[in-house]
Amino acid sequence: MANSWRRERWDSLRLLTPNWQSRLPGLRYDGPDPDGYMTMAEVIEFIEHFAKVSRAPVRTGVNVTSVRPAGDGYQVTTSHGEIASRTVVIASGACNQPAVPPLREAVPASVEQLTPFGYRDPGQLPDGGVLVVGASATGVQLAAELRRSGRPVTLSVGEHVRLPRTYRGRDVLWWMDASGVWDQRYDEVEDLTRARRLPSPQLVGTPERATLDLNALASAGVELIGRWAAVRDGRALFSGGLRNVFSLADLKMERLLGTFDDWATAEGHDAEVGPPERFAATRVPESARLQLDLGSGEIAAIVWATGFRPDYRWLDVPVVDAKGRLNHEGGVAGRPGLYALGLPVLRRRRSTFISGIEDDARAVIDHLARYLAVRR
Ligand SMILES: Cc1cc2nc3c(=O)[nH]c(=O)nc-3n(C[C@H](O)[C@H](O)[C@H](O)COP(=O)(O)OP(=O)(O)OC[C@H]3O[C@@H](n4cnc5c(N)ncnc54)[C@H](O)[C@@H]3O)c2cc1C
Repeated sequence: MANSWRRERWDSLRLLTPNWQSRLPGLRYDGPDPDGYMTMAEVIEFIEHFAKVSRAPVRTGVNVTSVRPAGDGYQVTTSHGEIASRTVVIASGACNQPAVPPLREAVPASVEQLTPFGYRDPGQLPDGGVLVVGASATGVQLAAELRRSGRPVTLSVGEHVRLPRTYRGRDVLWWMDASGVWDQRYDEVEDLTRARRLPSPQLVGTPERATLDLNALASAGVELIGRWAAVRDGRALFSGGLRNVFSLADLKMERLLGTFDDWATAEGHDAEVGPPERFAATRVPESARLQLDLGSGEIAAIVWATGFRPDYRWLDVPVVDAKGRLNHEGGVAGRPGLYALGLPVLRRRRSTFISGIEDDARAVIDHLARYLAVRR
């Protein structure tokens, strides 16, 4: 139970969503720190508590090795035997494996490579410089932690979502929630494919509610370089387009903050929150390096913070596309009786987060119940 939070996360991780937002069907956070961010131990406890109070018949430690069509249902093979089922809900998660680009093959053996699944704390890495690849939630958090440990850190930055931790005195995720941005439905989102692939926001949950954007990292001494494009003759080559990448992220953040301001005015909330704020543009380094010699010893380790992907190798039903993504329409997969939950923007923008499950589960299970009723 809570397997991914128990085994696949680094030691210092806290949720980036505030405690009051960690809700599961029928369970609200009722501890002493609603605006804080859960540690991994607290997340595990929260999920274990949910299993207890929901009294769901959970069987733990069972690995599903195959699900395949059988008759008008499914045959499920598990590490504990066979199950025949008329319906199946795939809730195996969206982040089962780190997504690492093929560039990793060209990295010399002298450089240690890690993914967030293997990373626990800075002490585990060899002495020397670290290249963190990817500047979304995982990358910025690990770059900050590694820099604090005293190492030289270089961060390779591609497309990213910049957000301040707080805006007008409230957590930025309060604004997402209250303004209805997170409630936008999947069939209202303009470019759904893109929305589902959007990187996680540059946020960290710390007791100080600190903003962890690229300016904060640069001020802490992290060197920012462009997107990693290729390896040639043992040299890593990076894109020179940092200025564009930064201004796009700044622009999108400004637009989102503008949406919040419009909502606050229209709904009469201006008096309850602080005055509108605007943030300094992301500072472009005077001369971002375009190459790193991976054989020089400058970089002792690479941390791939390039995202995660699901693992459907056990799913013997033709509903997974060539890129390894499940085909579904709001959680209804392309074969009768097959459903999904817990995927990015499954039915709403909030589906990506723990708090998204409640509404999604109701809608998907309604569909499932109707399907069974009709068949009966
Ligand atoms: C690094 C990281 C940080 C995150 N931080 C936040 C956050 O701050 N706030 C937030 O709301 N969300 C966060 N998320 C997103 C978070 O993972 C989801 O909101 C939530 O965990 C989804 O729950 P889930 O049960 O759908 O998937 P998961 O938590 O991934 O659980 C899926 C489970 O299915 C199991 N499984 C997979 N395949 C099989 C199989 N074949 N047989 C048996 N079991 C199987 C897995 O072992 C796992 O236990 C984060 C994600 C990551 C990767």
